[in-house]
Parts: sequence; structure tokens; C-alpha cells
Amino acid sequence: MQTDQLLQRALNFEFLSIEEGMHLFETVPTTELMAVARALRMKQRPEKIVSWIIDRNVNTTNVCIANCKFCNFFRKPGHADAYITTSDQYKEKIEETCRLGGEQLLLQGGHHPDLGLSFYVDLFKELKSLYPDLKLHSLGPPEIAHITKLEKSTHTGSSEGINGCRGWIHCREPVRKY
Ligand code: SF4
Repeated sequence: MQTDQLLQRALNFEFLSIEEGMHLFETVPTTELMAVARALRMKQRPEKIVSWIIDRNVNTTNVCIANCKFCNFFRKPGHADAYITTSDQYKEKIEETCRLGGEQLLLQGGHHPDLGLSFYVDLFKELKSLYPDLKLHSLGPPEIAHITKLEKSTHTGSSEGINGCRGWIHCREPVRKY
């Protein structure tokens, strides 16, 4: 594959195939990909304004069966410190966040063996009905994979964004290593 041509196509906002994306991922230095990403960004937002929002990380549960070896957060099902965040706790945290100018909740948690799709759909519905303006940035790729496994299906609820912060867990190597 011609790397330069692929990068040029990306710069022209053309979609690349999975194979082409993998080729770039495996062969192009990160700094070069960053330069392309920045060029694309500047095409769309040339005014050089960077903005941000205030959000709050809230854990849905600390119960997890993934057993990542580096994790000091999770508790096994049945552990005395295991918890599932309650509605009242969400309300308290959300209202505190809003008082401080926050507008988004980043929801993530462990891979609970009993919390399937309906739990998250109900949770998102409840939070959105109580706080319609609140943005839900919910569930990382590993959680979605876990829920999908529980449900043996390929779709999940109505989050407004997927957390990227734990995408690295998809990489098996560090999970096994640490
Ligand atoms: S999936 Fe998350 S909570 Fe579970 S063990 Fe791994 S890092 Fe910890």
C-alpha cells in the first residue's frame, strides 16, 4: 500500500478501509499521524480556538471480572467493598458538578457479571430524564465488549459518546503483562 497516497486521501476526507487504517497504524510514526490529524482539524476549525468542557468521572460500579493485573480499583463480586452507584449518589454528584459549571458525566466502571444492557439503558434513561441537558459520555470499548458478551448482541444503549480513555485495554499485551 502506498502510505503517502493513503495519507493524502485521509487529508481529502476520504474514508479508508480497515486494512488501510491498519496499514497506517502499523507503519506510520505517531507524530506523522498527529500532523495529518492536525491538518484535518485546521481545515475544519481554522480559527485556532481550543475549547473544553467541565465533566466529572463517576464510576458505575467497582465490581469487575476482567482481572486486569495492574488494576487497584476493582473488587470481585461479593467483596465487602463492592458497590453499584445508587440514584441518590448520581444525583448528588451531578448536582455538585452542575453547580461548578460542569455539563457532562463520564460514566465508566468495572465489568459487572450481572449488569447487562437493560441496566445501562435504564440508567441512561433515568439520568437523561432527570437532567436532560447533561451530556453522557459513557462506557469505554472494553465495557461495551463486556456488555455485548453478556447480551450476545451487537448493540448498546443511548450514550452520547464512547469513552476513549480506556481504549488501550483492547491491547491484550499490557493487560497480560502487568
Ligand atoms: S476492566 Fe477496568 S475495573 Fe476491571 S480490572 Fe480492568 S482496569 Fe480494573
